[in-house]
Amino acid sequence: MFTGPYDGMMRLDSLIPWERTKRAYGAQQRVKDQMIIESALLKQYESIRFGMSTRKGGVSPEPLGMNLSYRVHDDPANVTENRRLLFAWLGMRLDNAAIPVQCHSDHIEVVSGPGQYENSDALITNTPHVSLVVNIADCMAVVLFDPVHRVLATVHAGWRGTAASIVAKAVVSLRERFGVSTSDVVAFLSPSAGPCCYEVGPEVARVFSSVYVQDRAGRLYLDLKKANTDQLLAGGARESNIEVSPQCTICNPRLYHSYRRDGERSGRMMAVACLMDGEGV
Ligand SMILES: [Zn+2]
Repeated sequence: MFTGPYDGMMRLDSLIPWERTKRAYGAQQRVKDQMIIESALLKQYESIRFGMSTRKGGVSPEPLGMNLSYRVHDDPANVTENRRLLFAWLGMRLDNAAIPVQCHSDHIEVVSGPGQYENSDALITNTPHVSLVVNIADCMAVVLFDPVHRVLATVHAGWRGTAASIVAKAVVSLRERFGVSTSDVVAFLSPSAGPCCYEVGPEVARVFSSVYVQDRAGRLYLDLKKANTDQLLAGGARESNIEVSPQCTICNPRLYHSYRRDGERSGRMMAVACLMDGEGV
């Protein structure tokens, strides 16, 4: 597996040689400035573009900073500007974004255009330039990409979605709807609440196999990263095709919003992925 010393940002310096276009240079700068988390694995494919926001670079007053949700206590004009900035940084069109209204379910929607998708926690598309969004602030965003069929899925996986096997179900959807072979799937599991900090009650812990629950001095901590990785492996994904960010949103206040840590004062981040057709946006 593609874990440490990966750090979502610093590693890129060694992986990305000097890129000649002004836009590409700008992208590299943003990564250095920690405004965008990228995937070293997905970055190897020209037919997909991906980035996840952090707290940095936004216009909202602190502690919101780069908040991308209209559903928290923030000036909508700031949120609109933050979204505009993020999509400009990513080189994607905000008006081509497919944004789910997440409900911690296992509902998967196949989409071919932009819009707001009610009651969806996973989106799938094979349409280039449609940006699939995951809203996050501790939950995990999982990006699944098949470079053979050029199909993309993005999944919102908190403890409820993980318990409902939404990642495993997304893999099945890719196979059944698009003929994807799971062994071809390339996956990125985003920064999320980590087992270092993600304490859960016994009622949540008992939903999971004990393999995913650490008992430390009588306190229970859930490992979303391992649980979702195992769903991919059990579904037939190759270990070398899975990149897991080891970063924890809760214990990285400088970089990430965390609802668990900040409660109502927490902003929201977005993970965004879109298929490219080689012509750029
Ligand atoms: Zn932590």
